[in-house]
Amino acid sequence: SVDTTPIRATLFPGDGIGPEIAESVKKVFTEADVHIDWEEHYVGTEVDPRTQSFLTWESLESVRRNKIGLKGPMATPIGKGHRSLNLTLRKELNLYANVRPCYSLPGYKTRYDNVDLVTIRENTEGEYSGLEHQVVRGVVESLKIITRQASLRVAEYAFHYAKAHGRERVSAIHKANIMQKTDGLFLKVFLFLMIKYRLLDCKSMLPCINFGLVYLQCCREVAEKYPEIKYEEVVIDNCCMMLVKNPALFDVLVMPNLYGDIISDLCAGLIGGLGLTPSCNIGEGGIALAEAVHGSAPDIAGKNMANPTALLLSAVTMLRHLELHDKADRIQDAILKTIAEGKYRTADLGGSSTTTDFTKAICDHL
Ligand code: NAD
Repeated sequence: SVDTTPIRATLFPGDGIGPEIAESVKKVFTEADVHIDWEEHYVGTEVDPRTQSFLTWESLESVRRNKIGLKGPMATPIGKGHRSLNLTLRKELNLYANVRPCYSLPGYKTRYDNVDLVTIRENTEGEYSGLEHQVVRGVVESLKIITRQASLRVAEYAFHYAKAHGRERVSAIHKANIMQKTDGLFLKVFLFLMIKYRLLDCKSMLPCINFGLVYLQCCREVAEKYPEIKYEEVVIDNCCMMLVKNPALFDVLVMPNLYGDIISDLCAGLIGGLGLTPSCNIGEGGIALAEAVHGSAPDIAGKNMANPTALLLSAVTMLRHLELHDKADRIQDAILKTIAEGKYRTADLGGSSTTTDFTKAICDHL
């Protein structure tokens, strides 16, 4: 059966706290009888000319072959002249959408009890295209690239996700009032999709860009037939304000790369911090590479202090991608119960448990 046949998956333990939290995942999976045959790949110590980064070609091939993987955080030294490992992975594997569910954890009190949203970040272009140069001494230029192809792809994914998960609203986050060409194109793509999926509530549309009356007219006509699903456009600064005021205003948020990077960390803050939020990168050809939202946390690396929840919940999204929902539910329940019980919590959640003790408590709950 699917449950007992080992599935090959790539594992990048990553840097800093990565190996410690990857160890937690392996322990919990073993305890839960999840049969994964991990192909482990570490970040190399020399630049591989084929990838122009410390990631080896073989490690990328492993993900391409397995189509499924889990990734710990990877540190990016600033100004060292090689490609960011994360950018390399996203570009080489065409990981075009980063999906980050974010929900209030029962029993862990924050300012908000009602967070239940999903950010979907375009992952391959925007400000992260890596095109920077010096124009003249003292003046540098960084290019923000937005293409119709990548915008369509992530927007398609966002609506597909919303429909598949019974979500009611998609908010496109933008700054098209200032970045009229780039973010304007990003939004324009949404209007095409609105028509295609028939998902526009024209009442919630902010008339912030002039797309021409034809678009709006079509959208309004379609919207009137499908008032139950909403689409809206929210300017990023307003979005930040609304999120901290009342996160329940949002459901699925989709946005270009840089905004996604920032907003998803903001969302992590709403529910208790970076140690809690999982994500999954969706790539062309059915690739799914799950990863924690946080970085390598060099301040606590090697101290057995890291919270493995984010990577564990990312591993759960990986299991869901493999349609191993029973196993995913069991592990997710055990994690949530451990946190709710409050007996074992890591320092970021106000407790004093080590990574190992917290992991053991989860295993005990299985
Ligand atoms: P960070 O996420 O590593 O740390 C920010 C703060 O959150 C730190 O105080 C850290 O201790 C804490 N934290 C993060 N994860 C935690 C966890 N699981 N448990 C408990 N506390 C946790 O961000 P940073 O310090 O800005 O970045 C460090 C390095 O990580 C940089 O090189 C950066 O480029 C890299 N990074 C990688 C990724 C990734 O691989 N996806 C993401 C972000 C940053």
